[in-house]
Amino acid sequence: MTDIIKSIENAQYNASLSKSEIEAILKDNSINDFLFAAADKVRQKYVGNEVHLRGLIEFSNICRCNCFYCGLRKDNLTVQRYRMSADEIISLAQKAKDYGYKTVVLQSGEDAFFDKDKMCKIISSIKQFGLALTLSIGEKSYDEYKSYKEAGADRYLLRIETTDKELYKKLHPSMTFENRLKCLENLKSLGFEVGTGCLVGLPEQSDESIAEDILFFKKLGADMIGLGPFIPCPNTPLKDEQGGTLIKALKVMALTRLLLPDINIPATTAMETLQENGRLLALQSGANVVMPNVTDEECKQKYVIYPGKAGLNNTAQEYKNSIVEKIEALGRTISQDYGFHKKTV
Ligand code: SAH
Ligand code: SF4
Repeated sequence: MTDIIKSIENAQYNASLSKSEIEAILKDNSINDFLFAAADKVRQKYVGNEVHLRGLIEFSNICRCNCFYCGLRKDNLTVQRYRMSADEIISLAQKAKDYGYKTVVLQSGEDAFFDKDKMCKIISSIKQFGLALTLSIGEKSYDEYKSYKEAGADRYLLRIETTDKELYKKLHPSMTFENRLKCLENLKSLGFEVGTGCLVGLPEQSDESIAEDILFFKKLGADMIGLGPFIPCPNTPLKDEQGGTLIKALKVMALTRLLLPDINIPATTAMETLQENGRLLALQSGANVVMPNVTDEECKQKYVIYPGKAGLNNTAQEYKNSIVEKIEALGRTISQDYGFHKKTV
């Protein structure tokens, strides 16, 4: 047995890997199948065969930030911007409930139009449907996060994107790594289930820095980790970069499952975008969550974080049915509960 295989074997039992072990695993592609199988076993043992579906509502593509990788960045003047009304958002959430979702995820650019009061009204209306609610709306003040929590929001997704501070600075004009981190700490202290994650395959991102990202997830005590390949987007400063690969993103995800055995890990749309059935591969390599889009057609087409996003040509209902069918064909079941993080380690 090679040392690398041995360290993967051990990690299945002690949920621990050193930075140099993670780097060695990332570099060696001969062990990929072994790694994916190990993550699949750990997923099965700790979170079982159920897959949690979360209905995603992309309610505004207006953003004041200028992240270099993202199609929705402020300086991209080719985007047709939209913003749903509170009523539209609430009625989509109702629709998600009717489709059978137990959780809705509200995602948007950093759109200042939705101030604290507007957001809290939307949150409390949706909570009346008996849904779990996840927010993914960017960096806010402690006070805003506190109000969202009091209005009933359960979870918050805010990817750290990269823990390489130099790279973070280059990619995020007028944002700081320190504030992003502070936001995550605030969310944790307020009692949110906290999700973070990273982009895989950013320019100048080393395996060492990815290893640090994974160790950061563990140190933070994340409840969810969403990660995916960086996909270059036209009309952004990184449009000509190479981007990440599906395999590398799956490896980072599998390693995350080994180190955080009982958390929720989505098979992300970016994975499906790079390869048809990429999401199913993810479900067999450590993932236990899928977030189908319930945004209506017209808005979905305009929410272009990266090009070629999977699922653009299906209605929300078609999309859900086909995902459910595929999940069941893997011998997995669709969860009927809220899918909160059940801590076992
Ligand atoms: N504005 C919010 C939520 C929307 S962006 C926020 O930034 O937190 C959601 C995620 O899309 C980001 O966290 C980022 O990791 C991802 N993303 C942005 N551009 C991308 C690209 N070109 N390829 C892959 N993922 C991308
Ligand atoms: Fe805005 Fe989020 Fe895109 Fe950054 S990643 S430009 S914050 S939508």
